[in-house]
Amino acid sequence: MSNARAVESELARIGIDRVLCTGHGICARTLPEAVALDEWGYPILATDAVPPADAKLAVKLCPARALFLR
Ligand code: SF4
Repeated sequence: MSNARAVESELARIGIDRVLCTGHGICARTLPEAVALDEWGYPILATDAVPPADAKLAVKLCPARALFLR
């Protein structure tokens, strides 16, 4: 396994329920390397693979429970 694949396998995968998301934008502050906000404040994922501890914190802080671990 290459180093890139080994690192990838250690990352958690996140998803966003677009129906539940209310555009609070907290996920963009919690996961700035993975989430940007569109002009209305809704998240755009640059990647869904993030460090597990960061992913768990972001899921916990999402006030709409729209962010989830895959
Ligand atoms: S924190 Fe939750 S509700 Fe807010 S933008 Fe992110 S996914 Fe949507």
